[in-house]
This record gives sequence, C-alpha cells and structure tokens, in this order.
Amino acid sequence: MMFQKVLVANRGEIALRVLRTCRDLGLRTVSVFSDADADAPHVRYANEAVRLGPASAGESYLDIDRVLAAAQSVGADAIHPGYGFLAENAEFAQRVADAGITFIGPRPDTIRSMGDKASARDLLVARGVPVVPGYSGEDQSDARFVAAADEIGYPVLVKAVAGGGGKGMSVVTAAEALPEALARARRVAAGAFGNGNLLLEAYITAPRHIEVQILGDAHGRVLHCFERECSVQRRFQKIIEEAPSAAVDAEMRAKLCEAAVTAGEALGYLGAGTVEFIADQNGAFYFLEVNTRLQVEHPVTEMITGLDLVAWQVRVARGEPLPAQGAIERRGHAVECRIYAEDPANDFLPSTGLVLDWTPPCGDHIRVDSGVETGSDVGIHYDPMLAKVITWGEDRAEATQRMIGALGDLSVIGPTTNRAFLVDVLRHPAYGEGALSTGFLAEHFSEWALIVEPDAALRRVIAVALHEATRRGASRPVLPGVRPGWRNNRGAPIAADWTVDGAEALISVAYVRRGDNVFTVTVGDRSFHAAVLQWSDDHVVLELGDPGGDHPVRRRFRLIADGTARHVVDLDGVSKCVEAPRFPFTESEEEGAGCVAPMPGRVVSILVAEGDRVEKGTPMVILEAMKMEQSLTAAGPGTVASVRCAEGDLIEAGAVLVDVEADDD
Ligand code: ADP
Ligand code: ADP
Ligand code: MG
Repeated sequence: MMFQKVLVANRGEIALRVLRTCRDLGLRTVSVFSDADADAPHVRYANEAVRLGPASAGESYLDIDRVLAAAQSVGADAIHPGYGFLAENAEFAQRVADAGITFIGPRPDTIRSMGDKASARDLLVARGVPVVPGYSGEDQSDARFVAAADEIGYPVLVKAVAGGGGKGMSVVTAAEALPEALARARRVAAGAFGNGNLLLEAYITAPRHIEVQILGDAHGRVLHCFERECSVQRRFQKIIEEAPSAAVDAEMRAKLCEAAVTAGEALGYLGAGTVEFIADQNGAFYFLEVNTRLQVEHPVTEMITGLDLVAWQVRVARGEPLPAQGAIERRGHAVECRIYAEDPANDFLPSTGLVLDWTPPCGDHIRVDSGVETGSDVGIHYDPMLAKVITWGEDRAEATQRMIGALGDLSVIGPTTNRAFLVDVLRHPAYGEGALSTGFLAEHFSEWALIVEPDAALRRVIAVALHEATRRGASRPVLPGVRPGWRNNRGAPIAADWTVDGAEALISVAYVRRGDNVFTVTVGDRSFHAAVLQWSDDHVVLELGDPGGDHPVRRRFRLIADGTARHVVDLDGVSKCVEAPRFPFTESEEEGAGCVAPMPGRVVSILVAEGDRVEKGTPMVILEAMKMEQSLTAAGPGTVASVRCAEGDLIEAGAVLVDVEADDD
C-alpha cells in the first residue's frame, strides 16, 4: 500500500489543502480540472495536472470514468477525494480500489452504509447511541409519512436519506403541508443525489450542532480528536465553526466522544470521519449522521490538537497505525469562518463574478485556506465557498477577537461576500456568551444589512475624489515652467455626489485646490484640510485634518476599479463608491408581474405555460445556481403572456424569464 503519486479529485480550497500536505510528505501530486478551472490555483500547485472536461461538474469532477482515466494516464497510485463531489460516493471508492489505486478514505461499504441516513440510524440504535425520534422505514408512501409524523408530533423535519449540505431538508409544522414538502424533497433529492428516498425526524427546536472528529486505522483502532461546534448555520449549512464547544463540559465531552468512537468501532472505520450530533439546550444529545470524509471545518481540530488530519489520512491509507488515544491532546480554542460568495442582506443568494482583489490576512495563529486569488472568476458551476479563515487563541474570547481582526484585514472584492456579515455575527453579545443554536442567525440576523461607519465612508469618498483629482491634474498636458495640477481658477469648487455601499444617503463632496496636491474639502457643513502625499494608479496616501489643525492624520487607501465604481480599502474595511450621475436616469421600466432571474443560473423547471393564470407568489420557474435551488414567483396576479426560457437554459442575471400581463386594477 505504499504509494508515490496522489491525484486530488477536487478543486478550490480543499484541493490546495490536500496538495499542501501531500507535498509535505514528499509525495508527487496531480490535479484535475474542468475548463472553467484551467488557470485555477489548484492546477498550478500540483506537479502535474489533467483536464477532465467541460465546466459542468457532471462532465468533469463528478465523472468517475474521467477521473479514473486521468489517474491512469499519469500513473497516480492513490486518489484523495477531498470533500464534496465524489468524496462520499461508494461506487467511486470501489472502482478506485478495483483499478489497483489506493483510495484515501474509508472502505466502500462504510461509505455506502453511512451515505444512507436511514441505515446509519439503524446501526447506531443497535449500539445504544441515542438518535432523534423519527421514521426511516422503507415504505415511502405519503400515507405512511403522514402516519409517522402524527406519531412523532409536529414540527417534523423531512430529510433525504442520501442528503448532504442541508439539501432537500425542510421543516414541516402541520400535516396539511407535509405532502407538498415530501414532493419537493423527493424532487430535490432525486436531482442532487440520484435517490429520492426520504426520512422524517422530530424537529428539535434551537439545538446545537456538535460533532466529533474520529480517525480509524487498518489495525482496528478508532480514536477521537474531540468535538467541534457548528451551530451558526444558514439553510442548514454551517458558516462559523469552533473547537471546543462552549456548551460541552468534561462530562458531556466524555460521553460524546465515547458515542463517536462506538460508532467508528461498529463500522470498523478507516481514515478520517465525523460523527454528527445535535444537542438540546439541556445537554441531551442525539446522533445525526456520519460524514465519511474530511470535513470543511477540520482545521479547527487541527489548530487545537496540532495534528495534520490529511497526513493521518495518508498514513492510515498506507497501513500505518494510529497513536494511542492518550497521545491526542488539545490546547486553546479555534474558530473558522467560511467566506462565501453570497449576499447575506438578500437571503444569502449566491453571487458570481471576477475577484478583483484577494488579499488575505496574515499573522501568528491565523490560517487561511483559500481556493481563489486576485483574478479568479467565480462562476455558477460550483460551490460558492471561496475560502476559510481560521484563528487560534488561548481561549474562546482571544480566538474570536483575532478572527474579527483577521476578517477586517481580509480584502475580497468583486462578488458580494459574507465577510462583513461574519464580523457582525462575531461581535454580537450572544455569540460572545456562547449562547448558540442552529436558529442563531434567524433569531438575531434576519434583518441584517451592511452598515458602514459614517466617518469611514466619508474618508473613503474623499480618498477617491482626491485620487481622481490628483490623477487628472498629473495627466494634463503641462506647459513649460508650469507644474502639473496647477490651475488658474483655484477658487472654483469641484463637487460630486457619491453613493457608498452601506451608507444611508448620498455623500456630497466638494473640494478646492489650494496648491500642489493640497485641497480644502467640504462635506455638508464640515470642512477638512487634505494633502495627497503619495499616489499611484491603485493607491493614495492622504493626510486629513481640520483646517488649521495641528494634528493631521495619515491614512493609506487602496483603490480597485470595478467599472464605474471604485472599491476603497483601508485597514478598517472597504467601501464601494460610485459617483452618482449628474443627471438622474429616468426610472427603468416597470417589471410588471413577470419574473426576472436574480442571479445567473440554470433553469431546472418551468411550472407555467402561456395563458396560465397566476397569483402573487405563484411559483413559475425553478432556477439552480451554485448548488442551490430557488423558486421564482409571480410578483402579482395576472396571465402568463410568454415564457422566454426553456428547461436546461443557462441564463444571465436580469434575464426576463416569464412575461406576465398584470391584471388591471
Ligand atoms: P460539512 O458537513 O463538512 O460542513 P458542508 O455543509 O460545508 O459540509 O458542505 C456540504 C457539502 O458541500 C460537502 O459535502 C461538499 O459536497 C460541498 N462543498 C463544500 N465546499 C466545497 C468546495 N470547496 N468544493 C467542493 N464541494 C464543496
Ligand atoms: P446534512 O447531511 O445535510 O449535513 P444533517 O442531518 O447533518 O444533514 O443535518 C444538517 C443540519 O440540520 C444540522 O446541523 C442541524 O442544524 C439541522 N438538523 C438536522 N436534523 C435536525 C433535527 N432533527 N432537528 C433540528 N435540526 C436538525
Ligand atoms: Mg451533516
């Protein structure tokens, strides 16, 4: 089982993460890529890279034949699946083994039995591990589910037995709503996992998500690496994780870890895995599922234990033994934040586009696992997670504070991201107290909007305005003996209005040039003395003070052009500034009652036809983008005049998909 060359069957940050350890261990590395990723960082980071196919995951990263052919073409003798894609695909693991290649992960039968949440529940029940009351039988009829739900009691949670990533899950509060939820979940599950089977669980209100990292070797040893808490979730998916959990004391930890090891031993577990639980607010916990792979949040465990989990995956795949449980120690506290291309102010809708700037934070105890760089194009084909920031501290408060600083230093510009949202979550007093549940975001952040500190917005607008003025001054043809930027009519102020993301109102800035790169700036009833000390195309150093004041303050701003907008970055954060048009545009045409694509994506199904009656809220089109399905509804009552898309179409944001003739009032 010695291997020399590892193919990493994944992309983005996880591919880079796995490649890094493979290189540390002296292994040769191979990346695979789709056409959308031909220039991606993970391709450059490996010794060799092999093209799989077109951008769609089905024809590239999810295509078992192509991945195996790639491995064979370069003589790779091991495959690491990362997470997502083929990581929990038992057929893939089996076919890798059949091809004489080592699969760095659990045995195929383990993946198969745990990939089915129903059989996982059964196995754990048999070992005396508590599971959430539920129904996971073979009878999949609506009638059987309705009867089961009555027995369990509402609310119930509908889950796909083959589910993952929160997909296909929905909470049902009353019997009337169950058949529709079942139908939708079956469709989503069949599409996403190729298996429409469902199960029901009692919906535990306000639980905490707590999970235990396990490792198993080929000699029958299974050990745990303590717990992680991942209660901060949106759409049943984690966005902030930490280790250890603030809710777990020594006694509960011992029980949780024992239950996890019991599960691992029952499975004869090989490799790295995670046993997930939910805990109620009284500390009772129930088994949820086993993830038979490395997990997105594995770095928090690495930060508190000092282990390299990928290295252990490689070692146990080679047949090497694990150390004894007592050798696994933990110290301090670690927090991970997932940086997603999504808009927290708009229902976490994924966003796309070119990454105009990616500048990660750095410093002691700060780790950044990123899949993007400046110039990366975030498309619609893959997961919208761009990167993860992980921090460590002696205790929870220190790790959290370090994270707030690190996220402040992170510059990620282009697609809308959740960076500022994460900072606000970490600053929330309830987060600080560790008062978490999976309902935390819904409870505290359902109304979140980006708010920029007014003075910070003002400084950034002054920075762009004066940068522009200085640039224009320097590029004017210069007469001999006349210095650039010199103007005869220095008295006339130049004024403009700016919109700033997160600011309440337009910011009106006027300035008058007082000399070489020296200005008086007026904003409302305030005025400042400003000097441009240094500048280039993409930065400006500004000194700003009260007129005649003794203590002007120097700040450096970076400016990133984005069409007509400028992103202005300083050490407090970033703002997108746009000079407002001097003549307001006429209002754009009314949209009527039809529907417009809110993001680029693929049309999954069309639910209406020409001539159909619709009411406000009638679902008309189902769109999929970045692994998420969204139902687009009619804005008001009317009649469908035309359907302008077809199932399977790839469409741009803003495309009109259905025209509806609105009813006359
Ligand atoms: P976890 O249970 O490890 O937290 P997540 O909820 O983050 O997993 O993600 C669920 C699924 O999303 C993963 O199993 C994986 O399919 C996918 N996923 C997340 N991030 C990525 C990525 N960077 N590349 C590919 N797939 C990803
Ligand atoms: P997935 O495979 O999609 O990760 P899980 O079964 O692990 O599905 O559940 C994902 C998340 O959904 C959990 O972290 C938790 O927040 C929530 N959840 C799952 N089961 C329940 C339940 N019975 N009651 C309340 N919340 C649940
Ligand atoms: Mg899960």
